Amino acid sequence: MRRPKLFDLNDALQHPGRKVYLEVSTSLEEEDDLDLVRPIVGELSAVSTGSMLLVEGLCHVTMVLECARCNDPVEVEFDFEIREEFPVEGVAAGYGSGGMAHVVPGEDAVMFRGNSLIWEELIRQDLWGQIPYSVLCREDCPGVEWDHGIPVGRPEFQVLSQLLDDAEDDRPE
Ligand SMILES: [Zn+2]
Repeated sequence: MRRPKLFDLNDALQHPGRKVYLEVSTSLEEEDDLDLVRPIVGELSAVSTGSMLLVEGLCHVTMVLECARCNDPVEVEFDFEIREEFPVEGVAAGYGSGGMAHVVPGEDAVMFRGNSLIWEELIRQDLWGQIPYSVLCREDCPGVEWDHGIPVGRPEFQVLSQLLDDAEDDRPE
């Protein structure tokens, strides 16, 4: 596995109220099930209340989905929001008591390495929840026409369709 890209949150964690930012751009190379047209771009921010770390962001994605009716590829472009909270333990170092605050990621441990956020993992997880459920290649897409139970116009099935046609022609009257 390649080195994860990290967003060091210590400046926010050790100084509650201080907001830190990160410009992001990623092709999510380890995600095989997404067909991205361009890298995802956006900005993340993080701020700690002392007991809770809030990570927010807005990202823009252009990806290819399948038309819900005809299965043709459709390019869709949308913004998606990032918003996650993580508990914080310990006293912020910024308070000068010699303490050190740290994130308690719980079941999101895969997103953290110490106090650094593996931000591509956060983006990946939040994106999956916001991909449009159903898209159409065009408003009046007629869907797939069927012949012999085989979709017409799908090149990979044309040979099969032709074979069935020939078989019918050979049938005695
Ligand atoms: Zn369609």
